[in-house]
Amino acid sequence: MHSKSETVQLNAPVRFATRISIEQVEEGQVLAPKFDRDGLLTCVTTDTHSGEVLMLGYMNAEALEKTIQTGEAHYWSRSRRILWHKGATSGLVQQVEELRIDDDQDAVWLRVSVSGSGASCHVGYRSCFYREVPVGSQRIAGDRLLFTESAKTFDPVEVYGDAPNPTKL
Ligand SMILES: [Zn+2]
Repeated sequence: MHSKSETVQLNAPVRFATRISIEQVEEGQVLAPKFDRDGLLTCVTTDTHSGEVLMLGYMNAEALEKTIQTGEAHYWSRSRRILWHKGATSGLVQQVEELRIDDDQDAVWLRVSVSGSGASCHVGYRSCFYREVPVGSQRIAGDRLLFTESAKTFDPVEVYGDAPNPTKL
């Protein structure tokens, strides 16, 4: 349900509206994101072509604005505490085909095309969700995690060298 709107210059600053009413937030046509106490929105990212969930990330206001301005996914890295242009190091940029915001505007959904090998996970897999946890009757075979991708799509050591691993214990 699109309706007409004024045109905007490429790279124009993105305005986030003040949240004034439930109706405005849920039914309106203005972007009025609700950042949490840490200033973050949750972001789920899927592959436009396969529909596969690639990753779950977080965006602060700057990451959201940069994503909107450039059409390339930017996140806030909670472990490294930096704005993170996805693919800047690896070349595996996520081209945003569609950005959606949810009902109460505290979460976004990116549908992306990934360049290069198509991987989005720093471990080397396509999706960050590359292991399955057995549930219910599946536990008959044991509680071990099951890998859902048979091989990595790139070698993280080759791509990241000795850069610190963003996964923290
Ligand atoms: Zn990952």
